[in-house]
Amino acid sequence: AKNTGPGSILFYEAQMQAQVTTRARLQHDLREALQQESFCLHYQPQINAAGQVVGVEALVRWISKKHGFISPAEFIPLAEKTGLILPLGRWILHTACTQLAQWARQPQRQGLSMAVNVSAGQFQQSNFVEQVREVLQETGAPAHQLKLELTESAMVEDMDAVVARMQALRQLGVRFSIDDFGTGFSSLAYLKRLPLDQLKIDQGFVRDCLEDHNDASIAQTVIALGHSLGLEVIAEGVETAAHQAALQSWGCRFFQGYGISKPLPAQALEAFLTTHAAV
Ligand code: C2E
Ligand code: CA
Ligand code: CA
Ligand code: CA
Repeated sequence: AKNTGPGSILFYEAQMQAQVTTRARLQHDLREALQQESFCLHYQPQINAAGQVVGVEALVRWISKKHGFISPAEFIPLAEKTGLILPLGRWILHTACTQLAQWARQPQRQGLSMAVNVSAGQFQQSNFVEQVREVLQETGAPAHQLKLELTESAMVEDMDAVVARMQALRQLGVRFSIDDFGTGFSSLAYLKRLPLDQLKIDQGFVRDCLEDHNDASIAQTVIALGHSLGLEVIAEGVETAAHQAALQSWGCRFFQGYGISKPLPAQALEAFLTTHAAV
């Protein structure tokens, strides 16, 4: 038959199909998912020492019809590699700000801050400041309740450019947290140059801080360093009350982790808020 024998286009395509790696297929499906908007955000509560919810961190979820649940730990690096993080990141920012604007209109949820993860490549876009300004305008979200979580990898490039960009965003009212603090390789000198609001102790140090003396020391040092620089310090990966108690005894005042709540869909988060007084 025409077009199905060896050497034909269909045969060639079938062969190619068999050769594509799972990774490439995933990449293709990721692009499709973006077009079909089959992502959603979950929100993980952040509490203060009094147990009040002060904010949430938005975490993206991809439920694929074909692959089932895929962890962002898997698809975010892929999206970063392929540049898809740029449109995906904008969608995440827009969706989180839409939610933030909605909560800001409700008296009991007015004060919540919304932390949004920003990949290095996303932050380094020349129009990133403009993009954030646009999203804030489009959604009506209060800028001072938006907190961008950057990792140290976003600040290894051109320090002056990073500082200028952060200052421009800060002028809009936006706040900044350094995520996974202590896991990067950049020098501590950047801390005093950047207009930061918060350090986030990486969950790798929190996990074993009850048993491992080194992890405990690092957690204590990050808390002391952050406070002495006038920054808020939040611990993530807080899995038990004992972890929270230890961190609290070391001066940490903000907590996030499964011990408080897993990341939740918006509706479930709202239910959580009714039982845990929000600030
Ligand atoms: P991350 O920003 O460090 O986010 C914290 C991760 O730890 C989340 O995993 C969260 O669900 C998980 N987690 C929270 N509490 C606990 C706990 O008590 N124990 C343990 N073991 N884990 C806890 P998730 O949602 O799977 O995200 C993984 C990573 O993917 C994130 O790490 C972040 O690097 C990336 N990511 C997730 N959502 C986004 C996003 O919207 N944008 C970007 N650029 N990256 C994202
Ligand atoms: Ca984060
Ligand atoms: Ca983190
Ligand atoms: Ca991480």
